[in-house]
Amino acid sequence: MIMNKIEHIGIAVKNITKSNELFKKLFNAEHYKTESVDSEGVITSFFKMGNSKIELLEAMSPDSPIAKFIEKKGEGIHHIAFDVSDIVQEMKRLEAEGFQLINKEPKSGADNKLVCFLHPKSTNGVLIELCQERRS
Ligand code: ZN
Repeated sequence: MIMNKIEHIGIAVKNITKSNELFKKLFNAEHYKTESVDSEGVITSFFKMGNSKIELLEAMSPDSPIAKFIEKKGEGIHHIAFDVSDIVQEMKRLEAEGFQLINKEPKSGADNKLVCFLHPKSTNGVLIELCQERRS
């Protein structure tokens, strides 16, 4: 199997401090980490849900993709991330299948991952993130 599991679901929020409180009540658990990803212009926080996670994302600046997303669609589910064993191989396979990769090279994402996004135009409107644990 090449895509192993849903690694996390990303949710765009306007105020991550308020949303951390809200999701804490919802899950009856604290987020276990907060991390900023400068390349994406976002602050993220993570909640563990068994084998997968929920990632909250707040824009750090108005030109962040998250700010643009919220402007267009409002807060809500932003992307679904799948764990892959070999991101480079999977990117090649998907590109050959006609999917549109947003980044042509794997890039650094939150949570010590290499990531690649697939354009929602090629995936029925769903922004898909591939992520692979960084091996170091
Ligand atoms: Zn993500």
